[in-house]
Amino acid sequence: MENVDLKKLNEKRISVAEALKNKKGSVELAGWVHNTRDLSKVKFIVLKDMSGMIQVTGVKGKTPEKVFKDMDKITRESVIVVRGDVIDSKQAPGGKEVNPTEIIVLNAAEDLQIDVPFSAGDESKTELPKRLDYRFLDLHRRKVQAIFKIQATLMQAFREYMISIDAVEANFPSVISSSSEGGTELFKVKYFEKDAYLSQSCQLYKQMVACAMEKVFSIFTVWRAEKHNTVRHLNESRQFDFEMAFADEFVVMDVMAKSVQHMIKKVIEKNLEDLEILEIKLKVPAVKYMTFKEANELLKKNKVDTNEHDLTGEGEKKLNQLFPDTIVFVHDWPLKGKPFYIMPKGKDLSSGFDAIYKGMEITSGGQRVHLPKLLEERLKTKGLKPKDFKSYIDSFRYGAPPHAGFGMGVERLTMVILGLENIREAVMFPRDRDRLTP
Ligand code: ATP
Ligand code: MG
Repeated sequence: MENVDLKKLNEKRISVAEALKNKKGSVELAGWVHNTRDLSKVKFIVLKDMSGMIQVTGVKGKTPEKVFKDMDKITRESVIVVRGDVIDSKQAPGGKEVNPTEIIVLNAAEDLQIDVPFSAGDESKTELPKRLDYRFLDLHRRKVQAIFKIQATLMQAFREYMISIDAVEANFPSVISSSSEGGTELFKVKYFEKDAYLSQSCQLYKQMVACAMEKVFSIFTVWRAEKHNTVRHLNESRQFDFEMAFADEFVVMDVMAKSVQHMIKKVIEKNLEDLEILEIKLKVPAVKYMTFKEANELLKKNKVDTNEHDLTGEGEKKLNQLFPDTIVFVHDWPLKGKPFYIMPKGKDLSSGFDAIYKGMEITSGGQRVHLPKLLEERLKTKGLKPKDFKSYIDSFRYGAPPHAGFGMGVERLTMVILGLENIREAVMFPRDRDRLTP
């Protein structure tokens, strides 16, 4: 184990991708040992960094003796600095390899096969729960890195789109005094002498901000104490939230569609290699609108079980078969199937909608009730007490425009775009019923 001057390393080091691109001659690389191979007269190390992989080739009699001798003794995932010459090579993957003059081990990894039954190779067949137990190692895998690089692009592109329409980014409190929506179970926390809860959504806060600042967005963490353990739910998740004044559900459905189209366009542009690693062919989605009634009639015609106030899982899957690569907005949703704060439309319908994409709900949204009297009525109809929502109702008494918004799951969107079987694959450190670490 040796020390190197990290400041100097940063000045001199180039990335593996740069070395592979057009670099020839002397270089300094740093990264992890992906693999080693010993053919006695020739020894290989595959070196990886975030930009790619390159072969380091030692040749007996040519490579400095000490470097050659130690090459096959370096364990997988060890951290090394390689100094040497990049040369063209027909046999090497990527068409280039490094002839090492010096290999410095910054930190040798313990033997994975002995200490943890885990392989950090891309070929790893380790099951998800074990991978999550050793997530720090799992994150060495290119397939896993690809997921989170794509997710990072989604978040960045959401921000970009929102900024382009003059929405203001906001942060909201995560500790709240009581349920914001009723319904979902909340996690209770001690807050000095009082009981408080972890926020299940920023609904009420984003509404207050939109009523004053017109367009607001946030990437907000939510907690839901749902006891079920499914492949599409987490107990801690993030949402792309948006709220807008002077808007109804059709205005915000259009904003959502355009934001997702922008996000996916960016992923296709920026994450080409990551999509290849994951073997995903991504298309910018088309957009389709239909009423809940139309959707249910279509599903019945296709012999799919339907439900009076909600789409069934089977129905969501069928919509994807009928309209592949399409965001399907199902609007004019039955009032009974939507929360109290969604604006009614006539007696039985509402201004609420869901967006279904690749067979799953990714978003719920709608126009909100901005009229205090109507809000009180809606609360009562849902069996809730207006006095428990006094400050929420009062916020609409002093200049609240009509407004609408949506909440779209960050992990849910990542999951559907990448065809992941389990939403836990789309969170670095998932929180579910059984998992609080790492
Ligand atoms: P679902 O019907 O899929 O359980 P929901 O209708 O209860 O979702 P909403 O309150 O509408 O959820 O939340 C908005 C979006 O946030 C959902 O469309 C989904 O993308 C995501 N989402 C909701 N709950 C979870 C969860 N427990 N884990 C991960 N993502 C979630
Ligand atoms: Mg929903």
